[in-house]
Amino acid sequence: MRKVVFLDRDGVVNKDRMDYTWRIEDFEILPNVIQGCEKLQDLGYEIILITNQGGIAKGLYNHEDVDKLHQHMIHIFKNAGVSILEIYYCPHHTDYGKCLCRKPGSLLVEKAIARFDIDINVSFFIGDMERDMDAAKGADITGRLVQSNSDFMSNLNQFL
Ligand SMILES: [Mg+2]
Ligand SMILES: [Zn+2]
Repeated sequence: MRKVVFLDRDGVVNKDRMDYTWRIEDFEILPNVIQGCEKLQDLGYEIILITNQGGIAKGLYNHEDVDKLHQHMIHIFKNAGVSILEIYYCPHHTDYGKCLCRKPGSLLVEKAIARFDIDINVSFFIGDMERDMDAAKGADITGRLVQSNSDFMSNLNQFL
């Protein structure tokens, strides 16, 4: 079985600018995220991102924009020797209807657990919102709440 650290995206990996991020020029990786992910990899963890992208439902951007941004991010990580196992995002928004995948829902986490045969006992979820913790809890994994836009490595050192 695999051990995975689930990461929220905005506010954990990249700066949450208190607005939707879909343009590459607005995408700013937070301090020590790459280094922290390297450390996680060294410890045998794989990395999966779980992100709400309700801006799609709102018509602010589309799937292609999200994919482009994620390819950009994957490329940056890859150049530093860090691979991202998968990125799951929910394109829906509660203003436009219900879905099961938007956090606090745990569907995307559960999907990942099933697909990659993830050991829930050693995996955990780092997020900056209660809804991240709820998504983790719904999938029976440990949630680690951090401050938005904080130093990834100092957060990590508290959990490892
Ligand atoms: Mg966040
Ligand atoms: Zn959804």
